[in-house]
Amino acid sequence: MSIRLSFDDGPGPSTPPLLDVLHAASCEATFFLLGQNLAGALDVAARMAREGHRLGNHTHSHARPGALPDDVLIDEIEATDALIREAYRRAGVPAPDAIPLRLPYGLMPQDNRAGVLARLQREHTGWTAILDDWQRPAPSPQALCDAMCAHVDASAAQHRDVLFCMHDGSRHGEARPNTVEAVRLFLNLRD
Ligand SMILES: [Zn+2]
Repeated sequence: MSIRLSFDDGPGPSTPPLLDVLHAASCEATFFLLGQNLAGALDVAARMAREGHRLGNHTHSHARPGALPDDVLIDEIEATDALIREAYRRAGVPAPDAIPLRLPYGLMPQDNRAGVLARLQREHTGWTAILDDWQRPAPSPQALCDAMCAHVDASAAQHRDVLFCMHDGSRHGEARPNTVEAVRLFLNLRD
């Protein structure tokens, strides 16, 4: 069984300390980045690539399902892909042919954005558990870590792989210190 971490909505102020925590634990994650945050943080994204993380696309503006005409959503995805490729270039790391994609709020039933994915021939990366670390106030680091452990235990009992969705940033540029600390607690437990 595999346990993987992914982080959405960054980069943000908590991304560098999170990268420190992941690096100390030799843990590689996937970051689903917002183009609007990435434009001013290409060096942070290049560090992700250098340290072995995968860079994913979370659109430019984090628009709600149905909020954008298809062509605008496609423009957002392609502009964010271009920034991600620039980050890989700065890192001196070859970009993968297929950049992972996770739509804001995830792919929902009856989601009209599925047609855009089909047009772009892109897969959607979901999750097996989404943490409420995006809430205000965020749960405590210990509560988040406990939720992660409970999901791992339940998944292990069913021989299922785990992919966590957490948040290292937001479209408003918020810090996520509880997320960073929860990941540190979780990775220390698994050392
Ligand atoms: Zn998001």
